[in-house]
Amino acid sequence: MHGPRQRRAMRLLLCQVCGGRPDHTEQGWLWLLKDESRYAGWPEGEITTHPPVCRLCGALSALLCTHLWQGAAVAVRVGKPIIDGVYGLPYAVSKPWMTPGKPTVILHGDPAMPWMLGHQVAASLTKVTITDLPTLRPEDLTDEVTDFLRKATAVDVARLLAKVGGIAALNR
Ligand SMILES: [Zn+2]
Repeated sequence: MHGPRQRRAMRLLLCQVCGGRPDHTEQGWLWLLKDESRYAGWPEGEITTHPPVCRLCGALSALLCTHLWQGAAVAVRVGKPIIDGVYGLPYAVSKPWMTPGKPTVILHGDPAMPWMLGHQVAASLTKVTITDLPTLRPEDLTDEVTDFLRKATAVDVARLLAKVGGIAALNR
């Protein structure tokens, strides 16, 4: 994700796709995460560089993003996201020059932070509840969304639209 756009979306808690208000309920903001449920306690405390999403962008992402297919994505509600880290290149002091390590997240207060070439803001997600992946609703199928779906080449759009009762919109 584009660095300045990512940092703005994370700091202001904006949808990472459209920049609008992310979906929010009494359980918190909507986030899409890669399924790491093999780790005990996950997703509480998950550290991520991906900002939250609004319901429509979350639903479209779940449909269209190949990274999120095949059960690889989980939707969560985050009651308290804490901006507490930086993702970037950590440099090691060595002679005759500084050498970059592998990209990683370093949390604020870590003595390695002054040697980090930062790229994105990272957040620890707390008060996390797993929820259902957002889905498209028939009323989501505005001309703009239908046109977007029609142009999407990675998926069988007719099948997707049929799933959400939007086949009539496609045939208009
Ligand atoms: Zn959005």
